[in-house]
Amino acid sequence: MSQRIKKVVILGGGTAGWLTAALLKKVLADAIDIELIESEAIGTVGVGEATIPPIRLVNSVLGINESEFLRETKATIKLAIKFDNWRVQGEGYFHTFGAPGRSMAFCQFHHLWQRLRQLGDTTPLWHYDLNYLCCKAGKFAFINSQDPLLELPYAYHFDASLYARFLRKLSEQMGVIRTEGKVEHVVQTAQGDIQQLILESGQRISGDLFIDCSGFRGMLIQQKLNAGFDDWSHLLPCDRAVAVPSERFEQTLPYTRAIAHEAGWQWRIPLQHRNGNGLVYSSAHYSDAEAETLLMSNLERKPLGDPKVIRFTTGRRREQWKRNVIAIGLSSGFLEPLESTSIHLIQSAIVRLIHLFPHQGIEPAAVAEYNKQSELEFTQIRDFLILHYHVNKRTDSPFWRDMQQLKIPDSLAHKIEVFAAQGNLFREQNDLFLDSSWLQVMLGQGVIPQDYHPLANNFSEQKLRSMMDQIRDIKSEPVSSLPSHDSFLAQMIQRAQ
Ligand SMILES: Cc1cc2nc3c(=O)[nH]c(=O)nc-3n(C[C@H](O)[C@H](O)[C@H](O)COP(=O)(O)OP(=O)(O)OC[C@H]3O[C@@H](n4cnc5c(N)ncnc54)[C@H](O)[C@@H]3O)c2cc1C
Repeated sequence: MSQRIKKVVILGGGTAGWLTAALLKKVLADAIDIELIESEAIGTVGVGEATIPPIRLVNSVLGINESEFLRETKATIKLAIKFDNWRVQGEGYFHTFGAPGRSMAFCQFHHLWQRLRQLGDTTPLWHYDLNYLCCKAGKFAFINSQDPLLELPYAYHFDASLYARFLRKLSEQMGVIRTEGKVEHVVQTAQGDIQQLILESGQRISGDLFIDCSGFRGMLIQQKLNAGFDDWSHLLPCDRAVAVPSERFEQTLPYTRAIAHEAGWQWRIPLQHRNGNGLVYSSAHYSDAEAETLLMSNLERKPLGDPKVIRFTTGRRREQWKRNVIAIGLSSGFLEPLESTSIHLIQSAIVRLIHLFPHQGIEPAAVAEYNKQSELEFTQIRDFLILHYHVNKRTDSPFWRDMQQLKIPDSLAHKIEVFAAQGNLFREQNDLFLDSSWLQVMLGQGVIPQDYHPLANNFSEQKLRSMMDQIRDIKSEPVSSLPSHDSFLAQMIQRAQ
C-alpha cells in the first residue's frame, strides 16, 4: 500500500479534466486538494457536443441550475439519434432515449407489436414511443406526470468548450487551483510512481495521485507508464473525423442526426447558436481531402470556420489505472461518437474512482477492480457500436460490404442470434444500453425476429388491438399541447436572466 492520498493533480483542462475536478471536489470536498494544469497553447480537442441522459445526474450532483446551464453552454435538448442510410440508402430510423409501449413482466412490449404485425398491422414500433413522437413534432417540455408511460428521458447537445468553461468556474469556486502552463518533464520515484510535473516555466507541481486528462497523447499513463492499448480498429475501422461548425437551421430539432455515407457517417448536432458537423470516416477508403469535400457539400448551411481533421485509434488503454495515475477522457481510450458515449465514459470513470478512492493509499485490489469494470464498460459499448455497422444491407460500397463480413465478437453474435430467433433481449450486467436501445437498433438495422413470445397470444385479437391503440393514444395525447423545442429553450433561457 502506498501513502495516504491528499493532493490530487489533474493534467488537462478539457471536458475530462474539468469534469473530474468539479465532481471530485464536490463529493470529496476537504478530504483532498486539487490542482489542475492546462495549457492554452496546446488547447483541447474542441469536439464532443452530444450527450446521453446520465449527464443530467452529473449536473444535479454538481448543483447546476438547468436554465443557467442551457443558457451558458448554448445547449439544446436531445431526445434521440436519427440514423439515416445505415441499413440501406434512403431509409432512416430513430434510437430514442425512451422505450416503446410500456414495460411488462415476462413478455416485453415488442412481442405484442410483433404479433400485431403478423396480423397485418403496419404501425412502426416507434409510434408507441413518446420520445419519437416529440422528435417528429419538434416539441419538448417537462411533462408533469407520475405515469411511467409519459416518461420523456432526455440529454443535451452543448458547446463543449462552453461546458468546460462552466465547469472550470464551478471548480474554482469550490477551491480547485488552476495552473496555466505546459508540462515538459515528469519526475518519477525510484519505484516508478509519478511524483512531480515540471512546467515549461520551471514550476514544479507535486502530488499523491495524478489524473491523466491530457487527451489522446496520454502523457502520464502512456508516455511515462506505458500502460498499453487494446487496438480495436479491426472491429471499428473508422479512424478519422473532420469537423466544422455551420450556421444554425431556422428550427432546432431535439435530436442528433447520424447520416451514413459510403465509408463513414456524418453527425449534425443542433446548438442554439450553430450546428456542430463532422464526418467520421475510414482513411483506407477516403482521403482527408475527399472527406472534407463530402462534409462541406453536405452542410446545408454556411460554414463558420475551417474544417479540422482529427486522427484517432479506436480502442482502450489496457490499464486505465496504473501505479498512482488514472487515465480519464481521451487518454483512457476512444470509441467513435456514434452513440455519444465519451463524455459518459468520463462521468462513469469519475464515479468509479470516487467509489474506490484510495484515501489511505493505493491498494492493488482496488486498482484491479477499477480496471476490470472499465474494461467491461468499454467492451459493451464497443459491441453496441459494431452492431450499427455490421448489420446492414448496403451493397453500394466496399466499406459496407466489408462490415457485413466482419468477424464480430462472440458475445455480440450471440445477442443478435437470440434476438433474431424469438425477439428476446437480455441486458448484460451493467450494460449502459438498455433493452430498448438494443431493440431499436436491431430493428432499425433490419434484424426482424422470426417469432414472438407465446404470452403475446394471451389476448384476443380485438383486445390486443384496443390495448395497443390505447397505449398509442396515451403517448400521443400530451404532444399536441407541448411547446416547440425552440419555444421551450427560449422560456428556459429567459428564466435564467
Ligand atoms: C471527432 C470526435 C467527436 C466527438 N464527439 C463526441 C460527442 O458527440 N459526445 C461525446 O460525449 N464525446 C465526443 N467526443 C469525445 C470528447 O470530445 C472527449 O471525450 C472530451 O472532449 C474529453 O476530451 P479530453 O478532456 O480527454 O481531452 P482534450 O480535450 O484533448 O484535453 C486535453 C487537455 O490536456 C491539456 N494538455 C495536454 N498535454 C499537456 C501538457 N503537456 N501540459 C499541459 N496541459 C496539457 C490540453 O491543454 C487540454 O486542456 C468526440 C471526440 C472526437 C475525436
